[in-house]
Amino acid sequence: MVTINNPNMKKIVILGGGTAGWMAANLLQHYLAQSGFTISLVESPDIPTVGVGEGSTPQLRQFFNTLGITEQEWMPSCNATYKNGISFENWSDKPGFEEYFHAFPSATDRQTAAGFLQNCMARRRGYNVDAHPNRYFLSATLAQQALSPKPIGQATVAINYAYHFDSVLLGKYLAKLAINNGVNHIQAKCEKAHNHVNGEIKSIELHTGEQIEGDLFIDCSGFRSVLLQQHLAEKFTSYQDVLFNDSAIAMPSNSENVIQSQTLSTALSNGWAWQIPLTNRIGNGYVYSSEFISADQAEQELRTKLGLLDHANSAKRLSMKIGRVQQHWAKNCLAVGLSQGFIEPLEATALHLVQETIESFVGAFSAGNFTQQHQQQFNHRINARFDGIRDYIVCHYKINSRDDSEYWRANRHNSNISDSLQNILQCWDQGGDITAEINRQQIAAYYPAVSWHCLLGGYGRFPELSNAQHHNPTTNENLQHIDGFIQQCASGFQPHASALKFG
Ligand SMILES: Cc1cc2nc3c(=O)[nH]c(=O)nc-3n(C[C@H](O)[C@H](O)[C@H](O)COP(=O)(O)OP(=O)(O)OC[C@H]3O[C@@H](n4cnc5c(N)ncnc54)[C@H](O)[C@@H]3O)c2cc1C
Repeated sequence: MVTINNPNMKKIVILGGGTAGWMAANLLQHYLAQSGFTISLVESPDIPTVGVGEGSTPQLRQFFNTLGITEQEWMPSCNATYKNGISFENWSDKPGFEEYFHAFPSATDRQTAAGFLQNCMARRRGYNVDAHPNRYFLSATLAQQALSPKPIGQATVAINYAYHFDSVLLGKYLAKLAINNGVNHIQAKCEKAHNHVNGEIKSIELHTGEQIEGDLFIDCSGFRSVLLQQHLAEKFTSYQDVLFNDSAIAMPSNSENVIQSQTLSTALSNGWAWQIPLTNRIGNGYVYSSEFISADQAEQELRTKLGLLDHANSAKRLSMKIGRVQQHWAKNCLAVGLSQGFIEPLEATALHLVQETIESFVGAFSAGNFTQQHQQQFNHRINARFDGIRDYIVCHYKINSRDDSEYWRANRHNSNISDSLQNILQCWDQGGDITAEINRQQIAAYYPAVSWHCLLGGYGRFPELSNAQHHNPTTNENLQHIDGFIQQCASGFQPHASALKFG
C-alpha cells in the first residue's frame, strides 16, 4: 500500500475495459485505493475488445499473487491451462533443428543449462556435440509428455511456468473482481477529452454529454489510443521496418484428446500460426504480413493447416499496429496495453508489458509524491523494455533459414536490425561469450543469456562441422547425467489433465 499526500491527486479515470483496462483497474485499486484514490473505468459497450491474446509469460502468476487470487479461483472461470513454454516448428530448415522449445528459465535449469551453454560454445567452435536446447530443460520434457508444471505432492524442484486462457473470460473475471473491490464502472463511449490550461487532461466527455473529471487518466482504449495518441498527439515509433507482420486471423478448433501444456508456434508461408490449448477448445491464429499475402490466402492456408476447410469454424480478421509510443506517460495520462504499443504476439509478451507498465508507474508515481517528477526515467525504462523484447522477436525472423517465400528471404536479408541485435549475432557467430555480451548491453532483464542460447542454438545457427573435429567426451558424459536428472524430475509432476481438475 502507498500513502498519498498530494491533495491534487484523488481521482483516476481508466478509459477502456479490455484485459489491459481491467488489469490496470485491479492493480491500481490494490496499490492506491486505500490511500484515498477513487477509480472509475469507462468502456463503450459498442466498441469490442480485441478478443485475442490467450498466452502469457510467468509474470501473470505474479499478477494474481499480488491480488491474492489462487489458481483454483481464477483458472476454471477462464478455461485456463498451464503453459511450460513455447515450441517453435519449421522456423529453421537445418536438419535436426526443425523444432525447438523455449523454456521459461527456472532455478532448476541451473543444474542442466550450463551443459547446454557449454555445448553451444563447443558447437560454435566446430565440435560435434549436442547443442539442441530441448534436452537440457525440464520444462521441455514436461511439455513433450503433456505434464503440468505442478508437482505431485510437495515440490522438490522449482519450475517456472505461465498460462493459456480465454481472453474474453479473463476480462470478465477481472471486471467482476475490480467492481466488487470498489471500481466504478461506467458503460459509455468517450467522444472527446477536455484540457486544463496547462494542457493536462481535465475530463472526458461521454456520448451522453456527461463529463467525467479526473486527476490522472489511464488510456486503455486499445489500438485507438483515444487519449494518448489521438487527444494528446503523442508520437508513435513504428517497428514495421523490422517486424513485417501487421495482420492476424484467429480461428478456434475443437480440443484434442490430450490437452498440451505448451504453445505451438509453427512457421507458415508468410508468417506463423499459434496453437493455444484451453480446457474447452484450441485457440488458433495466423500472424502474417499483408504486404506478402492477402487475408483470403492467409485464411485458406490456416484452414488447410487445421483441416477446417468446410468454413464451419468462423475466422476473425485483425489488423495490428506494431511499435510503441515515445512517451507512455505524458502529462497526466498513462497509456497501458495496445494503446501504448504492441510487439507482435510471437512470445506472448503483451500482458507482461501491461503489468510491467502499471507496476513501474506506481513505483515512479508514488516515489515522486504523485507528481510527474520521475516521468522521464519511467518512459525511458518502458521504452527500453519494449525495444529489448522487440530485438529478441526480430531475431527469430532475421536468423530464419527458410527459402520458400519472398517473405522469409526479406526477413533474413533485412538490414534494419538494431545495433544491439547485430552485436549479439556477431558475438555468437564469432564464438564469443554471449552471456558477457548480454550483460555488457544490460538487457538480461528482457531475455537472459539462456533464452538467447535457446533461440540461436534452437535454429541451429552453427558453422558446418568438419571431419577433423570429434565429439567432446566430457560433455557427452555430462549429457547422460543431465538426461537422468531431467527424467527423474519429470516423474514428479502431475499430468496436465489431472492438474486442471480443481474440484
Ligand atoms: C493477433 C493477436 C494475438 C495476441 N496474442 C497475445 C498473447 O498471446 N499474449 C498476450 O499477452 N497478448 C496478446 N495479444 C495482445 C492482447 O490481446 C492485448 O494486449 C490485450 O488484449 C489488451 O488489449 P487492450 O485492453 O489494450 O485493448 P482492447 O482489448 O482493444 O480494449 C479496448 C477497450 O477500449 C474501449 N474503448 C475504445 N475506444 C473507446 C471509446 N472511445 N470510449 C469508450 N471505450 C472505448 C473498448 O470498448 C475496449 O473495452 C495479442 C494481440 C493480437 C492482435
